[in-house]
Order: sequence, then C-alpha cells, then structure tokens
Amino acid sequence: MKLNYNRTKIVATMGPASAKKEVLLAMIKAGVNICRLNFSHGKVQDHKAVIDTIREINEEYKTNVGILADLQGPKIRIGLVKDGGIHLKNGTRINITTHELIGDDNQIYITYPTFPQDVQKDEIILLDDGKIQMKVIETNRKDTVVCEVVHGGILTSRKGVNLPNTKVSIPSLTEEDLYNLKYALEWDVDWIGLSFVRTGQDIDELKKIIAESGKAAKVIAKVEKPEAIENIDEIIAATDGVMVARGDLGVEMPLEEVPLLQKMIARKCREASKPVIVATQMLESMITTPRPTRAEVNDVANSVLDGADAVMLSGETSVGEFPVIVIETMAKIVRNVEELGYPYNSNKEAAADAASPEYLVSAVCGSAVYLAEHTNAVAIVAMTRTGYTAFQIASYRPKAFTYVFTPNKHLLNALSLVWGVKTFYYDSLESTDKSIADVINTLKAEGFVESGDVVINTASAPIAELGKTNMLKVSVV
Ligand code: PEP
Repeated sequence: MKLNYNRTKIVATMGPASAKKEVLLAMIKAGVNICRLNFSHGKVQDHKAVIDTIREINEEYKTNVGILADLQGPKIRIGLVKDGGIHLKNGTRINITTHELIGDDNQIYITYPTFPQDVQKDEIILLDDGKIQMKVIETNRKDTVVCEVVHGGILTSRKGVNLPNTKVSIPSLTEEDLYNLKYALEWDVDWIGLSFVRTGQDIDELKKIIAESGKAAKVIAKVEKPEAIENIDEIIAATDGVMVARGDLGVEMPLEEVPLLQKMIARKCREASKPVIVATQMLESMITTPRPTRAEVNDVANSVLDGADAVMLSGETSVGEFPVIVIETMAKIVRNVEELGYPYNSNKEAAADAASPEYLVSAVCGSAVYLAEHTNAVAIVAMTRTGYTAFQIASYRPKAFTYVFTPNKHLLNALSLVWGVKTFYYDSLESTDKSIADVINTLKAEGFVESGDVVINTASAPIAELGKTNMLKVSVV
C-alpha cells in the first residue's frame, strides 16, 4: 500500500530562489502542498509567472498544489533614509513625520497618514522587527510625533513599524491590497491571506469582495496583533483558516507568550474544523546552511504535535540557498513525528448544538473516524461539493488516510492545505453504491488501497439530492 504523503502539509513561500520550474518541481516532489505568494514583495505581474509555473506542474505531473496569495494588509513602514542607514542612539529624540522625505538623525517619514492623531504619549514604537524601540514623547495631532530612542541601532530604509499599544485606524484592506486582490481573484488563487487582521469584520469585508467577484477563494486570517488575540473566537468563526504569523506576533506581543498562543490558536482552530498554519523562522538557519539547528527541528516537530494543519517556510524557500533541501528536511521531521509520536484520533467532540445543520455532518464525520479506528481501516473516503465534510473529518485527526472526491474543481488544490487530505476529481451522480465502488476502484488503481483493506465511506444518500453527508459504509476492498 502506498502511504506516500505527510498529513501535516507544507507551505512554501515563492521568491527568486524557487522561481525556476525545475527547482519548484523538485520542491513539490519533496513535499510542498501550497505555494505562498507574498504580495508584500515584488510587482503584481511577477506573481502571475509563478502561478503559471505552478499550474503547468499541476497539469503535467497530476499534482494538486494550491496557491495562497498573501496580502500585505495595513503594514506600516518608515520611508527612505539617507546614506543607506542612520544611527539611532539611546536617549536621543527624533521626529516621525507624515510628510514624505528622506530620513536623517532628526526626522523620518512614516507611511501612516493619521499616526499623529491615533498615537498616545508613552506608547511604544518598534522598528525593524522590534530591533529598535522608541517611546512617544508628544504628538502635535497633525503631522509630527516626537519620540525618544529606548533601544537604538542602525535604521535602514523602508523598515517595518509595529505599534503594539496603538489603536491603528488604517483600514484592514488598503488600496494596494484591493489592487492586488483584484489580480489574485482574476487569477483564481485558492487562498487569500489577510495580514494584521484585528476583528471578524475584517474577514467579513474580504469575504464580501470575494463573493461579489464570483470567485471561490478561501480566506486565511493572519493572526499577528494583540487585538487579533483578544478577538480570536470571532476571527476563527469568520475565517476559513488561520495563520499563526509568529514574525509580527512576536514583535507585537511579548516573545515568550508566542509558544502558548500558538497552542491555544491551534486547539481552537481544530475545535472549529478550520485549518491552521504555523509560520515563520521554522528552519531559518537553512537560508544559509544546509542543516537546521536542533531547536528548529524541535520547533517543526512541536508544531506538528500542536496539531498544525500546515507548517510554513518563508525566507528559507523564497531567497534561501537550499530551497529543495529545506523541504526534504521539513518533510522528514514531519513524517518522523507522524510515524512515531502523533496523537491520532485525538479527542474532539462533535458539534454540541444538536439543532445546528452542522451537527449531523459533524456527528457522521466523528463516527467515521471512530469506526476507522475500531476497524483498523486504512482509508476514510469523503464525497464533498463544498469541502465541509473534508474539513470536519480532518479535524478529528484520523489515523486512516483521508481521500476526498469532489466535483468542485476549486477544492482540488484548496484542500491541499488541510491536514491529512488528498483530493480527487469525481462528478458522477448515478447512485451512492456506484460512487462508492468507483472511488474504491480509483484508490486501488492508484495504489492507495489493496485487496482486503477496510475503507470507511461517507456519502450523501440519495446522491442525486446533493444533500449533506448523512451515511457511513464499511467496505472491504
Ligand atoms: C509573519 O509575520 O510571521 C508573517 C508570516 O507575515 P509576513 O511574512 O507577511 O510578514
């Protein structure tokens, strides 16, 4: 029997290091499930070339690699500074202005027009991933904020600004995001990531635009602000998936809180059957060296144990020297945990509200996983048009492999993000019995099951009514 894939998926950020087709193909063969296009970098048209390459590979090699377009959101930056960098010394004062200029020791420009109105005295300003820290001394509430340097350093052009204490009034989708989103939707990407999400409403607004465009893209809420942590339940309820964006989260929140926040978010996402990606610095040292640190190996392994649906690489695959080796390394770490230490079939209650329409599906899916465990089934098969059944089954973390058959072409690649799921196209509506026979034949032909194996089928009967999943069958191949 072919047990050839990780349950925990791998997201790789695309960039110059992974742009060539042969490199990307090698990365995909090594285990990439989702390619992330980071719209904070590069021109929008550059992403199209990458999308075309991914689709060519999907077509030629029958892979289902999904595409995540990651929008920058209300990211704040400083402007250009003179001489390639300025030295900010502890205890000195500097003005932050909303007028565009080349920064020097006296003043720097910020890309946040209402900063002087939004900020309060004594609030903290973090620059360059928190390496430089300043404190607000006073604001004229018009165009200038006077700050004192608390921890100085060399500040170079266009560095990011984090304002952990400030109620930022910039909309969650900036003009630049709306421009990029238009292209991402036109190109039919599978997932849209939204950075610096603060409330469930931020997600609702993005979903409204996607729905108006008639496209099927699903939404990932990037959790990286204290406000997102405060509103985590409503964000998880509104979104299709979550990213624990530890880069900015570790700047905006005390670093030592990030590990437990990761566990909390992963648990809540699994309870809600929403996929969760753990991101940033997972194998960071592999940007320049072919072997990771022991701590990085532990981080990937522990993220798998935390119940992540996917683990993500950023600089490691976008600009790193070893884009293929880093995927091989990550896949090996994931596989080893899954083979030797993963708590499959971990306790999860079916939806509690018996009146909710989800309750029955959730109960059928939970029972499928229970039945698979007690029959030593090698596979659970789901038929789905919306993906709902796939998300549900995955959230119970079955030991049996989960094969999803769908007539919905959009789901084939989108579900590549979801824990343990492998997708196939199937669109016959003749009868439930015929569908079950067809999917088992397909799995047998592909080498995923063999004679004598137990398979648990979930389905909706009668099939022609296109209803929700409502039945289970135990089949012996
Ligand atoms: C992060 O902050 O961890 C993250 C993934 O976001 P970005 O790479 O867009 O900064």
